[in-house]
Amino acid sequence: MDLTSGISSVKSIGPVYLRRLEKLGITTVSDLLNHIPFRYQDYSNLTTTLKCEVGETVTIKGEMVSLKNVYTRRGLRMQIGSFKDEYGKLPVVWFNQPFLIKMLYPGQKVALAGEVKLFSGKKALVSPDYEILNDEDTETKHTGKLVAIYPETSGLSSKWLRSKIKILLDNLNLDKEEFLPKKVLTKYKLTGLSSSYFEVHAPKSLKKVEEGRKRLAFNELLFLQLTSLGRKLNWKNRKSKALKVDKKLTDGFIGTLPFDLTSSQKTAITEILSDLKNNQPMNRLLEGDVGSGKTVVAAIAAFTAFVNGYQSIFMAPTQILAAQHFETLKSLLTKYKVRISLITSEIKKEELGRADIIVGTHALLHKKNLFDKVALVVIDEQHRFGVAQRQLLVKKTGTPHVLTMTATPIPRTIALTIYGDLDLSVLTEMPLGRKKIVTWIVPPQKRDKAYKWIENEIEDNKTQVFVICPLIEQSMIETMQEVKAVKVEFEKLKKVFKKQKLGLLHGRMKAKEKDKVLGDFRKGKTNILVSTPVVEVGIDIPNATVMVIEGSERFGLAQLHQLRGRVGRSDMKSYCLLFSEHGQTRRLTAMTKTNSGFELAELDLKIRGPGEIFGTKQSGFPELKVASWSDAELIKETKELALGITSNPKAFPKVIDKAKLLV
Ligand code: ADP
Ligand code: MG
Repeated sequence: MDLTSGISSVKSIGPVYLRRLEKLGITTVSDLLNHIPFRYQDYSNLTTTLKCEVGETVTIKGEMVSLKNVYTRRGLRMQIGSFKDEYGKLPVVWFNQPFLIKMLYPGQKVALAGEVKLFSGKKALVSPDYEILNDEDTETKHTGKLVAIYPETSGLSSKWLRSKIKILLDNLNLDKEEFLPKKVLTKYKLTGLSSSYFEVHAPKSLKKVEEGRKRLAFNELLFLQLTSLGRKLNWKNRKSKALKVDKKLTDGFIGTLPFDLTSSQKTAITEILSDLKNNQPMNRLLEGDVGSGKTVVAAIAAFTAFVNGYQSIFMAPTQILAAQHFETLKSLLTKYKVRISLITSEIKKEELGRADIIVGTHALLHKKNLFDKVALVVIDEQHRFGVAQRQLLVKKTGTPHVLTMTATPIPRTIALTIYGDLDLSVLTEMPLGRKKIVTWIVPPQKRDKAYKWIENEIEDNKTQVFVICPLIEQSMIETMQEVKAVKVEFEKLKKVFKKQKLGLLHGRMKAKEKDKVLGDFRKGKTNILVSTPVVEVGIDIPNATVMVIEGSERFGLAQLHQLRGRVGRSDMKSYCLLFSEHGQTRRLTAMTKTNSGFELAELDLKIRGPGEIFGTKQSGFPELKVASWSDAELIKETKELALGITSNPKAFPKVIDKAKLLV
């Protein structure tokens, strides 16, 4: 048995358990070894029936005196009995575990661990963990010490996992698996691989756990760093088209815009154009808060490709957004005779002539004969673009220059780890004249007042309003329930706002219907748009200045921020009303304090702590098992080492192979 062996090679794991393990994503020995406890139960207080006190968590070794099944009046099954050691007896109770009486028969030697409680007015052990003692001398695994508690699934208890992992620890030669040289361990104050696994799974103290976890976290981040660096080298070694950048033409184009570019837009454009001049393919992430003006930056890149006689592809996550990019690009580029086409599921490809810019959802990659000379691909909201899609892209278009755009403000440390393969351009400022969006939390008792205020706002300022219905399930795909809820809300609001014209938008509508609804709203034919959270990303309707979010406490900070970004897109004053059943929460209060996505992202990192980060759920970022995204120091160190390794792989012969197995 070694790390790569299938999990069935571990003693006494049969088919039933194989299936259960698979549910936890565990199929190899390495997977099981890397199933990391999420907390520890401290059973190290070894005491006696005499000394133990109510409220203490203890382990007591002794033997069973009696145990029987008892039915309560309410039909509950209890196991009641008594346990003794050399100092006296203690009542023991379990609930609904009738099989226990077969194992814990009178005279059976056992260690019981748990909290001492009062039961029927007497000191007792209630639902303690138990460990059968076969031989007084052998070391206990589940009691009498710090005990690891694992993520479980039905039929797979921590106790079971603990004993199987113990088999691994005893039988694997983990010293042989060490892949970091001594020098590196000393430099970064890391414990050896073998003792790290021992300390994490079967620790002597919580301090030791920390040391062990640090090493495993280091491995995890190092592996991420190595993968993204590997991707970077792989991409940079390909060839793509070197474009000529005609400064006069570019400046001329910028001159036609109805506004001045912000200085970070200018910097981003310089960075992108200098990438396009190379025959090394660009792989750049353009990060900028909602409304920071990413589209026009991308349009300049597409313009450059056009001038050089090449095609560009624009991909958006939804049809609505694709349609919007299409409109924007038309308004910016038609005067240069750029042919732009929008690919929808309804258009037959024969209807399309040759286009210079092809806009659509990711589905356009699956269509044939749309493009033959692609130099640039722009991917909006990149985090939904997976590895497989990227491979398809390369297959269909050769190696284009790739510009990915995201409004998710990823803290820099994180961007550098998971997007280490991308070069980064950040739009740090908003276009001039944008006012802060005033944000209020609206409790239920102020709802009617809020509706009146909205009515006045529409009447007095001829403004438009978004009403977003609550998220029912935390998933990216709209549920039927959400569709139902939005219809109910729509009917209700029609009665509240009798004088206004309302529109209804949800994801189950046909593309044509959606276009009509959005078109009417854009043209001002309707002034309140009631929608499921589908409008979350990207819609640009400058005249809408009020955003109402129902059930706002159900959204994550990233989503709230995205939604709020739908307003405040002109020089008119804008408002965001967070309707909340629960009044204030930390997240909602944070929303009222700042408009900056980057600040909210940092804050979210603090509120949630390790594991998840701002918008990770929607974003498909890798979830960390041991490491934490807020550990900037470890992120920096692993980056440094990963660079050292890739620039001199011979000095680290074992690293790359092993790192893969161990995380
Ligand atoms: P996002 O970064 O969210 O994709 P958009 O590209 O949709 O933002 O731009 C939002 C709005 O701001 C658009 O209406 C766009 O025309 C406008 N805009 C972009 N850049 C500027 C600028 N420098 N000054 C004023 N308005 C701008
Ligand atoms: Mg956008």
